[in-house]
Amino acid sequence: MATKLPTIPTIARIIDVRDTRDRIEIDDRWVPVPGSGDLRPCDRCCREHEIHVDVELSDGRRANIGSGCARGESMEVQSRLKSAVSAAKTRSRLRAELAVAKDEHAHSLAAWREVEALQPPSAELLEEIPHERGVRQVWGMGDANVWVLPGAKFDAERQGVLLNSWRSKRYKERGFERPPYSYQSRVDDLSDRLAKIERKLGALVF
Ligand SMILES: [Zn+2]
Repeated sequence: MATKLPTIPTIARIIDVRDTRDRIEIDDRWVPVPGSGDLRPCDRCCREHEIHVDVELSDGRRANIGSGCARGESMEVQSRLKSAVSAAKTRSRLRAELAVAKDEHAHSLAAWREVEALQPPSAELLEEIPHERGVRQVWGMGDANVWVLPGAKFDAERQGVLLNSWRSKRYKERGFERPPYSYQSRVDDLSDRLAKIERKLGALVF
């Protein structure tokens, strides 16, 4: 059985893995920006890496290496490192996405509150269309309008729908495609995924 040279300490533990690069969104994909991270000198190859791996060596010392600097280590260490680097990249991407999603949610909420504070135009009866089950009314508010069921009144529910329709138009004019709760659920989804990948990464480092 081959034995390792005693002068070269091996990796005993992976302590932490971090991808320090910034991410930007290009065509719906979040890509790392080369050169945007913190360059840290590597104890193994003497180059500088933006993905930092902290390890403990077999002689008890700590070392800083990069994601591709574990050649010659045991298969287990190499495989754990590969998975941990992949999880660290995902974590970095999710953090960037979450920061943007939180920002979008805050802006959408502010825009909706701004719209709620606007004085809406008064509701006006636009049209009365004869129908076999009674007259059918169309009510308008600015550029929004709403139908009322034949024979039914323009009641609080219909008034609410009309006001909401008018506010939705003002909200969309401010550049928002989706309602604030939709931005909120994106934030929740990303937070869940980030928590999962952090647990995964926690299990991979040892
Ligand atoms: Zn290196």
